[in-house]
Amino acid sequence: MEIDAFRQTEIGYQAPVGLLASSKPALVLLIDDDAVMRMHLRLCLDQEGYEIIEAKTGQEGLEIYSREHPDIVLLDAVMPGIDGFECCEKLQALAGDRPTPILMITGLEDRVSVDRAFAVGAMDFVTKPVHFAVLRQRVRRLIQQSQLQQQLETANRELLRLVSLDGLTHVANRRRFDEYLDTEWRRMQRERLPIALILCDIDFFKSYNDTYGHQAGDRCLQQVARALQDSIKRPADLVARYGGEEFALLLPNTHAAGALVVASATCKVISTLAIPHSSAPVHQTVTLSAGVAGLIPSPEVSSEAFVAAADKALYQAKAKGRNRCCLGSLDSVHPHF
Ligand code: GH3
Ligand code: MG
Ligand code: MG
Repeated sequence: MEIDAFRQTEIGYQAPVGLLASSKPALVLLIDDDAVMRMHLRLCLDQEGYEIIEAKTGQEGLEIYSREHPDIVLLDAVMPGIDGFECCEKLQALAGDRPTPILMITGLEDRVSVDRAFAVGAMDFVTKPVHFAVLRQRVRRLIQQSQLQQQLETANRELLRLVSLDGLTHVANRRRFDEYLDTEWRRMQRERLPIALILCDIDFFKSYNDTYGHQAGDRCLQQVARALQDSIKRPADLVARYGGEEFALLLPNTHAAGALVVASATCKVISTLAIPHSSAPVHQTVTLSAGVAGLIPSPEVSSEAFVAAADKALYQAKAKGRNRCCLGSLDSVHPHF
């Protein structure tokens, strides 16, 4: 009797080997034209607690693969019609960026066949006559490796997301902004398209903190960030927290004139939020000032000069009385080469 379906370790029982981290049994797709072979494979793998699904031809295997997304494929090399090598290549194409381990089962032990199996993307192979104890271990290992790989990729994606986000407001952080500006600046230069930047700064925010406290200040920043995020329309637009109470809206493929319209609408949106600000001199609500710059990037102007132009325009908006936006000129800043 098989007792290793449950692995007992020094730290206690672990999940049955056939189970994935999600507690679902792993799904094994057997593609083999030989019914006896399929039966033997099924008997061998049944003991592991896997869910098993069979295909009699390469074509049927491809169809089941697309529909069921198995966790591993056991693939016979020699079959009529689509053979194992061709099938393996087609399975890879179907998998895209979510590869499934493929274990080839082959009676062909010559170097060319082995090389070919790996060349078409098989992760491992066993030769016929099949040594079932070996096969079981290989299937186990391949599923575990693939699971670990997937977990690692998910964790990496999450990490990447976290290092790009501002913890308080959940919009992009400065690091992400700098990175995105660099990418989009070069892309717009290549494609000879305009790019625009809106730098926004909350008016009289120091006195907001002084009046309502730092925590209320934090909540106000969150509200403003959400409104800014809602105010952008295109998938390529980015809202970032540029620093303290300053936000940046980067708008690829947008002319300065269009960005000025967005900036003006943004200032309006923030004032209509009507967040009370009793110590603000004019409106007694939270308002925003914005500086806009836009151009088609060229080697004569640096992205730093572009940001400086928006910053200068922001300063002008402040000087002219706040709760407004101004358009900056790139002639008035020194390009940094
Ligand atoms: P202006 O209208 O000229 O922009 O005046 P201001 O008071 O908004 O500008 P100032 O630069 O003098 O003050 C900015 C304030 O923003 C001071 C700082 O404490 C506050 N601030 C920056 N980051 C945060 C934050 O994360 N949370 C809170 N609550 N306040 C912040
Ligand atoms: Mg301010
Ligand atoms: Mg400021």
